[in-house]
Amino acid sequence: MKTTRTTRSRLAETDFSRLEFGTVFSDHMVMMDYADGAWCEPEIVPFGPMPLSPALTTLHYAQAVFEGLKAFRRADGSVAVFRPEKHYERWERSCRRLCIPPIPRDVFIGCIRELVALDRDWVPAQRGCSLYIRPFVFATDNYIGLRVSATYRFMVIASPVGMYYKEGLNPVRLITPGEYVRAAKGGLGAAKTPANYAASLLPGEEAKKHGYTQVLWLDGVEQRYVEEVGTMNMFFVIGGDVVTPALEGTILSGVTRDTVLALARGWGMRTVERRVAIDEVMDGAASGLLSEAFGTGTAAVISPVGEIRHGENVAVINGNRIGPVARRMYEEITGIQYGEKPDPAGWCVSV
Ligand SMILES: *Cc1c(COP(=O)(O)O)cnc(C)c1O
Repeated sequence: MKTTRTTRSRLAETDFSRLEFGTVFSDHMVMMDYADGAWCEPEIVPFGPMPLSPALTTLHYAQAVFEGLKAFRRADGSVAVFRPEKHYERWERSCRRLCIPPIPRDVFIGCIRELVALDRDWVPAQRGCSLYIRPFVFATDNYIGLRVSATYRFMVIASPVGMYYKEGLNPVRLITPGEYVRAAKGGLGAAKTPANYAASLLPGEEAKKHGYTQVLWLDGVEQRYVEEVGTMNMFFVIGGDVVTPALEGTILSGVTRDTVLALARGWGMRTVERRVAIDEVMDGAASGLLSEAFGTGTAAVISPVGEIRHGENVAVINGNRIGPVARRMYEEITGIQYGEKPDPAGWCVSV
């Protein structure tokens, strides 16, 4: 791949002992443009600002898609990316929904591998830290009428990260969003696209004002069924079963969600993908039938939920402590990612 190396690495001045999520970026980035009906050759250049027109169509209409995956440094010094193929599959579906021309699988994964290989010294060595990889694509026509863009830019940037929530593995508190809705059937909810997150900001701010970490979204029609959290899918342990909302087009098909379902099945637990009513969650937490709730996502891996507020009702789950299933999941997934546990499914791809 054509590569222009930086002449001023920022590696030495970066404090890896206090990484805040998404604030520091590695030395390089991938860039690849689409014009005249075809993707050009990808290139690696130094990370930095780039000139863009104020008429850039993405700034006005949000025709864009992103992904988030991680690379881990393992005890033997090697570096591996977790489930890039699965991330590509979702990327490809998101791009189709946003009318963005597909990037071949080998190009998408090749760009990630080349960037991680070049910036491998940016993959933190501490347990719990990793290199977060952010591929994204956006429309680049300079046109403020609304139409599908004829040009695009694909990029990959990377950021060394620690824990996503300041709570770490301590339980977070969630609140249902009152009148707000994140996604409706037929909309963008199943695509990893910026517009979804713009819609979530105001309810998120109101949640924080009330002392809650994140919003627990309910379905857009009846506001009765649990959907997901801003950047995580939701899981519940109900009567010993591992239960998660079914994929019906309004929530993201999480790679971590898929990983958790596969591991639970492998452990002989019953997994159920179905509608989960918020009333069932609140009642179950009160009666003890619902013994755990946790969110799953690449950034946080597993995030136990200790409290859910829904209107005037507050459910405290498992005495506001992490439960055994969430803990075992966290240990198994991170164990596989850091190369400490066997990886029979071949989820880790060496760089
Ligand atoms: C990225 C994301 C998730 C988690 O997906 P993973 O593939 O597990 O990282 C869940 N929900 C939303 C809305 C997301 O953006």
